Amino acid sequence: MDRYNVDVLIIGAGAIGTAVARELSKFEQTVLVVDRLNDVGGDASKSNSAIVHTGFDAPPGSLESQMVVHSNPMFSGLCSALDIPFKQSGAILVAASDQEDAELQDILKKARENHIFDVEPLSAKEVLDLEPAVTPDVKRGLLVPRESIVDPFLLVVAQAENAAANGMQFLTDCEVVGLTRRRDGFTVESTRGVIRSKYVVNAAGLYTDRVSGFLGIDDFKVHARRGQFHVIDRATPLGISHIILPVPTKITKGKLLAPTVHGNWLIGPTAEELEDKSAHQTTKAGLEEVVASVKRLIPSLDSGSVITQYAGLRPVREPGGYHFRRFDDIPGYLELSGIRSTGLSASLAVAVVAKSMLIEMGMPSDRKPTTTAKREGIPCFRDADTLAREQLIRSDPRYDHVICRCETVTEAEVVQSIHRTPGARDIDGVKRRVRAGLGRCQAGFCGMRIPQIIARELGVSLEEVTKKGKGSEILVGVTKMMRIGCHEDH
Ligand SMILES: Cc1cc2nc3c(=O)[nH]c(=O)nc-3n(C[C@H](O)[C@H](O)[C@H](O)COP(=O)(O)OP(=O)(O)OC[C@H]3O[C@@H](n4cnc5c(N)ncnc54)[C@H](O)[C@@H]3O)c2cc1C
Repeated sequence: MDRYNVDVLIIGAGAIGTAVARELSKFEQTVLVVDRLNDVGGDASKSNSAIVHTGFDAPPGSLESQMVVHSNPMFSGLCSALDIPFKQSGAILVAASDQEDAELQDILKKARENHIFDVEPLSAKEVLDLEPAVTPDVKRGLLVPRESIVDPFLLVVAQAENAAANGMQFLTDCEVVGLTRRRDGFTVESTRGVIRSKYVVNAAGLYTDRVSGFLGIDDFKVHARRGQFHVIDRATPLGISHIILPVPTKITKGKLLAPTVHGNWLIGPTAEELEDKSAHQTTKAGLEEVVASVKRLIPSLDSGSVITQYAGLRPVREPGGYHFRRFDDIPGYLELSGIRSTGLSASLAVAVVAKSMLIEMGMPSDRKPTTTAKREGIPCFRDADTLAREQLIRSDPRYDHVICRCETVTEAEVVQSIHRTPGARDIDGVKRRVRAGLGRCQAGFCGMRIPQIIARELGVSLEEVTKKGKGSEILVGVTKMMRIGCHEDH
């Protein structure tokens, strides 16, 4: 017997897959979202620049431009409904040489062609008045007021939680390894058994080519373009509030500096073409290149204030560009590929288009009588004022127990992150949901407390707790100190 028999199967629980799931959760359809990874959040979707672009520099007239431009205004409302941080920080594109200055006119023209009419030219003085840390060599700039920032992981996880609250199912550690079209739908082989589905949405990012290949579609390839980043401590007196963008090249938007919604800054990314789709590691050369490039725009940048690094892989499609495809000879199959370096920003519009395409393909569109568009976030102790903190502690005494000192994350928040649906199952899952371990000491202090809480809440042994799924177990044995628990600061 098939373990899952659903109306729609979505392959990939990244920004695209979860946004599609949330969009479909309004309808009387059974939907299953599967991901080969051990958590929702995707691959590229959790390791990017975290910018909600306006689309001002997208190729005019392209599907990408249409999606990004259409999505941008949807973010503020969505983030407020999902109770996640969103900030319209604005961006300043800095021309730091005469040659870059000469390119600004074309970028402005492109912005107009993309219907982004609020981009404004700035003189060198205006750039420096807005951001005094920018290089005094600045020639001119462009202000892009609606470029914004989000927490990319929370964006995905909050949509997944909202979709789950409306009946969508999520299955992680579930890799699709085969796909066959039958008369009445699809038979999907996965590492967690056979799934039957009437419709299949391929939102597999880097692996969209492999998934389409299962059905004999072999007219495109996807390779990885790695981007490496440094994260800068929020205690650094950098004093920059806008996203600082270089003049983009044909291949990349270039190495930028972006504030995060949590008060840090990101600098990066590189753009390295790779065949290996698993090369998530950072390199000395890549990270040095990032510092050197951003220092050109912000000379006071101090690499000593870096607290960690990460790398993400952009799914680069050849032939390029966004492609949303249905196939007459494979009814029920929808492929969403080529969503490369603007997919976070475009995801909300992509989901609306995917829903419409599925309906055109025959998916019934009866609406559920009741659904909720809202989701409540985990109340954050750090951001609460004194009165609110007292109320939180009264509601749950575990709010009085700080687990992560750098980010002031309490035991109550860690516990809630585990009991959400879909909830954290490992250390990275907790970290991404409530920021425990993401501060200056990078889990030096809470490194052992989080696994103890995970083990206790999930009813597993400490040896079974992982950093990010099977194969990343963190312990070989348990010391006496760990068995009795380190509760000296209760
Ligand atoms: C360095 C970098 C910087 C970026 N900056 C920005 C930015 O600032 N703003 C912006 O809008 N965009 C940005 N992007 C682009 C954005 O991150 C991506 O376009 C977007 O995340 C793509 O989402 P996705 O859901 O298609 O892919 P992913 O997040 O990669 O999700 C695809 C999922 O499919 C799963 N999967 C694959 N194969 C299978 C299988 N066979 N079975 C089951 N599951 C499978 C994967 O495990 C993965 O979780 C950036 C990307 C990178 C790498």
